[in-house]
Amino acid sequence: MQFCWLPLAFLCLDLVGGQYYGGNSYGSTGGQAIRLGLITDDATDRIRQTFEHAISVVNNELGVPLVGETEQVAYGNSVQAFGQLCRLMQNGVGAVFGPSAKHTASHLLSVCDSKDIPFIYPHLSWSGTQADGFNLHPNPEDIAHVLYDIINEFQWSRYIFCYESAEYLNILDHLMNLYGIKGPVIKVIRYDLNLNGNYKSVLRRIRKSEDNRIVVVGSTEGVAELLRQAQQVGIMNEDYTYVVGNLDLHTFELEEYRYSEVNITGIRMFSPDQEEVRDLVEKLHQELGESEPDGQGSSSITMAMALTYDAVRVIAETTKNLPYEPQMLNCSERHDNVQPDGSTFRNYMRSLEIKENTITGRIFFEGNVRKGFTFDVIELQTTGLVKVGTWEEGKKFEFQRPPQAVTFHDVDDGSLVNKTYRVLISVATKPYASIVESIDTLIGNDQYQGYGVDLIKELAEKLGFNFTFIDGGNDYGSFNKSTNTTTGMLKEIVEGRADLAITDLTITAEREEVIDFSIPFMNLGIAILYVKPQKAPPALFAFMEPFSSEVWLYLGIAYVGVSLCFFILGRLSPTEWDNPYPCIDEPEELENQFTLNNSIWFTTGALLQQGSEIAPKALSTRTISAIWWFFTLIMVSSYTANLAAFLTIENPTSPINSVKDLADNVDDVQYGAKRTGSTRNFFLTSEEPIYIKMNEYMSNNPDMLVENNQEGVEKVKSGTKYAFLMESTSIEYNMVRECNLTKVGDALDEKGYGIAMVKNWPYRDKFNNALLELQEQGVLARLKNKWWNEIGAGVCSAKSEDDGPSELAIDNLSGIYAVLIVGTIISIIVSVLCWCFFVFKKARFYAVPFCGALAEEFKIVIRFSENERVLKSAQSIYSRSRNSSQSIESLQTDSEENTRTED
Ligand code: GLU
Repeated sequence: MQFCWLPLAFLCLDLVGGQYYGGNSYGSTGGQAIRLGLITDDATDRIRQTFEHAISVVNNELGVPLVGETEQVAYGNSVQAFGQLCRLMQNGVGAVFGPSAKHTASHLLSVCDSKDIPFIYPHLSWSGTQADGFNLHPNPEDIAHVLYDIINEFQWSRYIFCYESAEYLNILDHLMNLYGIKGPVIKVIRYDLNLNGNYKSVLRRIRKSEDNRIVVVGSTEGVAELLRQAQQVGIMNEDYTYVVGNLDLHTFELEEYRYSEVNITGIRMFSPDQEEVRDLVEKLHQELGESEPDGQGSSSITMAMALTYDAVRVIAETTKNLPYEPQMLNCSERHDNVQPDGSTFRNYMRSLEIKENTITGRIFFEGNVRKGFTFDVIELQTTGLVKVGTWEEGKKFEFQRPPQAVTFHDVDDGSLVNKTYRVLISVATKPYASIVESIDTLIGNDQYQGYGVDLIKELAEKLGFNFTFIDGGNDYGSFNKSTNTTTGMLKEIVEGRADLAITDLTITAEREEVIDFSIPFMNLGIAILYVKPQKAPPALFAFMEPFSSEVWLYLGIAYVGVSLCFFILGRLSPTEWDNPYPCIDEPEELENQFTLNNSIWFTTGALLQQGSEIAPKALSTRTISAIWWFFTLIMVSSYTANLAAFLTIENPTSPINSVKDLADNVDDVQYGAKRTGSTRNFFLTSEEPIYIKMNEYMSNNPDMLVENNQEGVEKVKSGTKYAFLMESTSIEYNMVRECNLTKVGDALDEKGYGIAMVKNWPYRDKFNNALLELQEQGVLARLKNKWWNEIGAGVCSAKSEDDGPSELAIDNLSGIYAVLIVGTIISIIVSVLCWCFFVFKKARFYAVPFCGALAEEFKIVIRFSENERVLKSAQSIYSRSRNSSQSIESLQTDSEENTRTED
């Protein structure tokens, strides 16, 4: 230890400019005053104020005044602290007060030790032996002793020893020594396992264990934080007892635990009523604007401040008896100069006994260790910290609990009868609460109605309490951990302006940190509210829909295939070869009716459930006919059966079918949620990529967020392609009233609504029991039905016209009309083409101009009054055609291939 600071010494001397290297390292301060150095890492400036105050107090009594010189250093910055110490030494410092950071103090102690400068450390000694530093803090052994006596007084047979870090194990070590071989069962838990100040996992372990008696030792900040988190974890209630081994318990923020009935016992070395403490508080009030003590037993004076004050007193008393002229020193290792009277001064300090004018009481030393002090044993009661005993070394521990002050909570019989509570509601949130519309002027609770209002009335009837409703607005509130602030209804409850809150208030972990909730009275999840899907206009070829395109394809193939079969089988079957002139017995030619054309016509007739003049005669053609007819029977029946459904059912389509569609902004649908609420918070805190994306969208489009649910519903209804992320129960409520709104997709999460109440409210169990009873008796279900499906509902329950059978409109059948029109046009075109071809042949035959023949034929065609046509020309055409290789008639009839000469 002696050597490890030397390299740092060179470094620091360089840092301060190196001007000490060559100069005269010795010399008197030259004046009468004795310099005291304070190297502090306290950012609040309160240690410095205390130091200066103590010096100014003692200087009134001193001939040789003390002069304080303060050096502020960053916490844990040993290099900087060492530089400041060298500066102080160079000015000739008589004693140095060290900073709280253990390693820095340890380093400075070594330096001061080697230079014989008294070093004062006003904190719990880290070594347990107090080394050579001057330490007024009670020794870990004495702290262990007082804890031992308190625990014995409580007659604990087992408990948890919760310590912050290894150095506090000293206390456990001494405790074990005091117990010897017989003692209670002690479970040892460390709460600073590099948890970055998050002790909740440790505390949860404690909650799950069978022990509810806890001894806590650690630093002031660590223990205060542990207690705060213990409250969050739910182990700050009447079932738990804490004994705190930190001497700063009186400085903790205990207000929140006072009514939780938790038992907290601790120790302190001074009372806030002492004159020195009051003076110091007054000084801090003037200098720093700090408030006066709250008169409830707590004080802002920490042990470090008290010990700094007392150490100055000890130095002052020493200088009264011992002349002391600190020399200017150089802290470079090359100068082994020391403070000539330093060790004498330090030893004298330890030999004094001071009984008056100190904050922490009597001061005297046994060796290096302070002894003879007294501890007040204090306990947290509803009035604040109360002294319940006195502990003095070597004396019998006096533990006497004074009768508790009578307060409202103490006389409480545990029932809610005749108590009045202020209940927050949100009158803009139907159906949970709303203003009654009446021509009479209503006052008080009569002004409000709704599910929440009725529920509170039911509970009040069961439990006998009175209530006053207050409109808490739209902001239900949140808790910001980093700034420790609450908003909205939460804030009203936390700050005591309201007792309960009932609305669509979601139970969330974040809110549970500062308030309590009843058991959930309704379950829900976040879902999407959007306009009902629009019906799609019927397709032009809707008549094709009964069959899939595959079936149509196979039907076409079957049609062509079977037609070909008829053609082939007809030719193969002798029965199908017929005498074209039955009156001629021995025909020269036979004719087959299954020409390609006829085959196709036959299958077409059958397919369309019509007939044709063609009658199969051969067994083979009859068989295939039967099969084809059966096939078409089934196909046509199936088609007909399906057709009506396809023509009448119009499938509604919605661009948004899930939250994913929303996140992808499908069809440019925008979305939002209530600005301040658990839904928005869900997206703000979620770690799912899709919700992170949605959160970014909402954050970038703040105009998509609304103040309350009603505003969101209106925005959806306005038809601006807006979807509202809303809780499913509220969606259900709106769907029954707004017929064009619907819920899209499944719920994104599962949660419940609860009645909010003050943290650790003593009647919470009673409230929960009453709620459970209401649930079991079906009252909750009845209320829900009343406010959801009865009052104001029924608008959409009657079947709308759309739901019944509807006549087919032209839109449904337009396709088949189109087919008819197109078919007709094609047949007209074909007929005109055939007619032209016929006239062309005719004109060529008679060697007349085509146009003339066309005009002549046209005249015959448009002579509508005549249905007969003179065949003269036809006869002559016919007779001439005998000489020609081909008759015109033959152009119009079946080809010659269909006749065959019988041998
Ligand atoms: N139930 C929500 C809350 O407790 C309000 C509605 C919402 O955020 O959708 O904050």
